Amino acid sequence: FFISFEGGEGSGKSTQIARLAERLAEKGYDTFTTREPGGSPGGEALRHVILSGAARLLAPDLEILLFAAARADHVTSVIRPALARGSVVICDRFQDSTRVYQGLAGADRRLVAALEHLAIGATQPDLTVLLDLPAATGLARADQRRGGAVADRFESEALAVHEARRQRFLEIARSEPQRCVIVDGDRPIDDVAREVAFLALDRLDG
Ligand code: C5P
Repeated sequence: FFISFEGGEGSGKSTQIARLAERLAEKGYDTFTTREPGGSPGGEALRHVILSGAARLLAPDLEILLFAAARADHVTSVIRPALARGSVVICDRFQDSTRVYQGLAGADRRLVAALEHLAIGATQPDLTVLLDLPAATGLARADQRRGGAVADRFESEALAVHEARRQRFLEIARSEPQRCVIVDGDRPIDDVAREVAFLALDRLDG
């Protein structure tokens, strides 16, 4: 069973993923958590290139090629083997992040779709949890978490850009209601965790 978490900066993905993994482990599920970009040695090396800003040497609409390479490596060397062992795989960001971030950065829609197919194939998430909250709230949280450290290149963009991403995430989730659930992330951690656990267990047990 494959679960992905999506959402903007400061939406609480890593906290909620840790909480869900704990809850599923209590219930006896073997869980495996991972993240994108990264998640495999090759993917992490590419994550470094992407986040360091070295990728800016590429046109913004071509950066998607790096994300696709990272994802293909991650899916092949980590996600598929874990699913084959029977683990519940929980991934921090997956294809929806690419549709949103690289899509809004100008990547051609057909290229986005073709690379998604190439990198993922049939390894689609069974459940995608979109943690939704106003962009300003998420950015304030991300600021607090950093405690004055420098924002990464994606976090330091204008509020309007973050809000546009939020809307695109919501559009995707509404267009694929079988796979995606929208969870209000603008609530206390425990409340969000309870809803996420309920949704995941409902699908896993049911
Ligand atoms: O999830 P996390 O915040 O660690 O992601 C690292 C950064 O990479 C984020 O700032 C996110 O905006 C960016 N990213 C991206 N395109 C993706 C995945 C992540 O621009 N497909």
